[in-house]
Amino acid sequence: MSINIQEHLDDDTDDACRRAVTESVDGLRGSQILAIATSVRALLAEGKEVCNLTVGDFKPSEFPVPDLLVQEIQAAVARGETNYPPSDGLPVLREAIAGLYERELGLDYGADGVVVCSGARPVLYATWRLFTDPGDKTVSFLPAWNVGYYAHIFQTDHHFIGTAPETNFFPTVEQVKAALPGTRLLVMNSPLNPTGTVIDKDVLRGIAQAIVDENKRRGSAPPCMLMWDAVYWQLTKDAFPFYSPVQLVPEVAPYVVHIDAISKGFAATGLRVGWAVLPPYLQKKMKAVIGHMGAWAGRPEQIATAALLNNEHVVSTYNQWIKREINARLDALYAGITAMKADGLPLDAIEPQGAIYLSFRVDLPGRTNESIRALLLDEAGMAVVPFQAFDMPEDSGWFRISVGAVGQAEIPPMLARLERLIQREARP
Ligand code: PMP
Repeated sequence: MSINIQEHLDDDTDDACRRAVTESVDGLRGSQILAIATSVRALLAEGKEVCNLTVGDFKPSEFPVPDLLVQEIQAAVARGETNYPPSDGLPVLREAIAGLYERELGLDYGADGVVVCSGARPVLYATWRLFTDPGDKTVSFLPAWNVGYYAHIFQTDHHFIGTAPETNFFPTVEQVKAALPGTRLLVMNSPLNPTGTVIDKDVLRGIAQAIVDENKRRGSAPPCMLMWDAVYWQLTKDAFPFYSPVQLVPEVAPYVVHIDAISKGFAATGLRVGWAVLPPYLQKKMKAVIGHMGAWAGRPEQIATAALLNNEHVVSTYNQWIKREINARLDALYAGITAMKADGLPLDAIEPQGAIYLSFRVDLPGRTNESIRALLLDEAGMAVVPFQAFDMPEDSGWFRISVGAVGQAEIPPMLARLERLIQREARP
């Protein structure tokens, strides 16, 4: 006879949960993007035609991972590589990551500047853990992916700073300078989720220099650290190259933690290999936090990732292929939307520059983003995520389009449905 747990629980589960958990966790919301994705799946299950442009993930049938990764994982498992890896990652992988950064970005951190973990999130979490205590000032810019959740978990005095489409939703150097006094952690991401834009090189240089100047002024007080979330760095268009702030202003190196993973560049979100590249003086502390979280990547995945990153030919061939596939989708969407805009429809988009995203605007006065989202989904089978899911509070009409889960053939019919809908709505 098994014990029926339900019989021993409170009827009011919400209330019981509220009493049991800490205040900071009680206020934590689940991901809005995943909630929207669930409603899309329900429509698909009903047999409706929906172009799913919501999740920041890849459909494996459209975007398979490199074959080498699969082969090496299988071989490592078959060899019995199934015990604990070191808590900062296998040396062979840390060397391979350091080699990748040296080869591609000209940054020589050495393996002592690398901590490996299970996807980008654990090092992201550990970065907040390393540099913030409750009440510390932290800063990020709007819109951005998930920062609000981390600020909430760590109970910091978080300042969200608004940006404009004219600056591709990045801050200006002046905005950053004004925000720096007292800040412990500045969080930035480029190529940017949700906008698909890449920060301007000169703006990034100005920001990096401002951090150096600020920390000089602070003397022996705690410095401002920069979390540089570069998880999409391999996915930029040729005209919009990625830079690390350390390439532009080497003196900022002591303050920069790069966040990275195979999740996006190799469409390997479910294999869970990520890492931080950081100044070696911080490596042991990051290792300790990741170690106590137990957030290691699997040993077979680590071995396979090392083999992949060390194989320059496979890396560059795969990179060219995946960018071609992503850009074909983004460019088709951008061309379709800008053509409708040229026809006078109240739509807009920002030229795609990197990542797997496109910023898309629907300007229907009197409608909230949520009502536009539902309209697009129900009437045009177009599933997108409003910028509110990226902490931007106002009903701006801006949405994120993500192309990792769609085939190229789905795009033209979806654009036709969108055009019919907007024509009807805008010119009744
Ligand atoms: N940073 C950004 C900007 C992201 O968009 C994501 C994933 N959506 C992550 C970090 C986390 O990546 P991972 O899945 O490797 O944890």
